[in-house]
Amino acid sequence: MAHAETADIVIVGAGVHGASLAFHLTRRGIRTHVLEAKFIAAGATGRSSGLVRMHYDLEAESRLAWASFQYFRNWAEIVGGDCGFTRTGFLQLVRPEFNAQLRANIGMHQRIGIPSLLVTADDVRRLAPSFSTTDFELAAFEPESGHADPTATASSLLHAARERGATLWQGRRATSVQVSKGKVVGVQTNQGPIGAPIVVNAAGAWAKEIGQMVGLPLPITTWRHETAFLRRPPDLGPSHPTVIDFPNLMYFRPETGGLTLVGLEDGNPLGMSPEQDPDRVTPGFVERAVERICRRIPAMERGSLHSAHPGYDGISTDQRAILGQAGPEGFYLSCGFSGTGFKIAPAVGACMAELILDGQSKTVDISAFRLSRFDEGRALRGEHAYEEIWRD
Ligand SMILES: Cc1cc2nc3c(=O)[nH]c(=O)nc-3n(C[C@H](O)[C@H](O)[C@H](O)COP(=O)(O)OP(=O)(O)OC[C@H]3O[C@@H](n4cnc5c(N)ncnc54)[C@H](O)[C@@H]3O)c2cc1C
Repeated sequence: MAHAETADIVIVGAGVHGASLAFHLTRRGIRTHVLEAKFIAAGATGRSSGLVRMHYDLEAESRLAWASFQYFRNWAEIVGGDCGFTRTGFLQLVRPEFNAQLRANIGMHQRIGIPSLLVTADDVRRLAPSFSTTDFELAAFEPESGHADPTATASSLLHAARERGATLWQGRRATSVQVSKGKVVGVQTNQGPIGAPIVVNAAGAWAKEIGQMVGLPLPITTWRHETAFLRRPPDLGPSHPTVIDFPNLMYFRPETGGLTLVGLEDGNPLGMSPEQDPDRVTPGFVERAVERICRRIPAMERGSLHSAHPGYDGISTDQRAILGQAGPEGFYLSCGFSGTGFKIAPAVGACMAELILDGQSKTVDISAFRLSRFDEGRALRGEHAYEEIWRD
């Protein structure tokens, strides 16, 4: 079929991953169309907590986060615009039975070149005097890390891509992927077809549906995650570090306006429609978030609720991204980011562009994230894993 509209590559989804890939492809002169059913960052990206840290228990993920960090801290020069990166320092707290894993993971990060230090509970008390520090002995400290603004990140990547000729369609939904003789030939949309030999599934919580369009079953479901924004009492000070607090199954970070954002690692239901209750948190969530943050920062008992909202991401069965070619020739996956994909997006986009255009990624080796790992019995697991989270 002849198409009136054509592109070299169509990306489905204008979240941070579609945006990053469009940025990197247009840098290489590729005619890229980004199809977005709603608007930029309408999915997980617009609800993301935006933590930027390198602490992972899987080396490939730390490498992606570290390569991405070079973008976050030099955003204006590399991308242009503002990603809202704010350096707060990052602490990873673990229960004492995971001290050995913590030491091993920090060792791995230091080998890669990531600024990460092993610190004691006493050190944490000096860094964050308002924290209760009686339930852990050791922590990882990343002095350079912090958080960014995910919507601004996606918007500035897309702005740069559009300046180099990318076409962004908002309110245009992919309804089917057209395949002929085993090869992708284009995408059908609610506003007519676009011909293209390459289509990339960057549809976040909707990625499974896009896979079904080419008969490719993806081991991805949806993950709902709620966050609360709490006002700190003024005497708590202007800020505090960004923290993943495994003893309390929680993470938190400062937000502008004297707020603290809190997310919980448990109670995140799988398998809900990403269209269900998109603006309302579950009854009891705010109370649980307040109770947890008060365990770590007792003075938050004098805080108050600002707001709370949910978001949805696609989660794979090993809770790691799925990256690479799969299904018909010309069909690529950049999905399954499992609630941790924001901070790795700049480098994932670079790697996917290299894979598509050169046959192999060189920024970071992403071959471990291929879809076939699940059939090969090579599902990913951290070399020094902590407790299982996000599985309820
Ligand atoms: C509440 C919450 C907090 C998080 N906190 C963090 C964090 O602190 N740090 C971190 O690193 N990660 C975090 N994450 C994870 C991170 O935000 C996601 O992994 C990342 O934003 C995923 O980006 P994406 O581009 O893959 O998907 P999305 O941002 O979901 O984008 C997918 C887009 O595809 C569009 N789409 C769907 N179907 C179609 C179609 N048929 N046609 C056209 N368009 C379509 C959607 O409208 C959507 O805009 C969090 C996630 C959530 C939900």
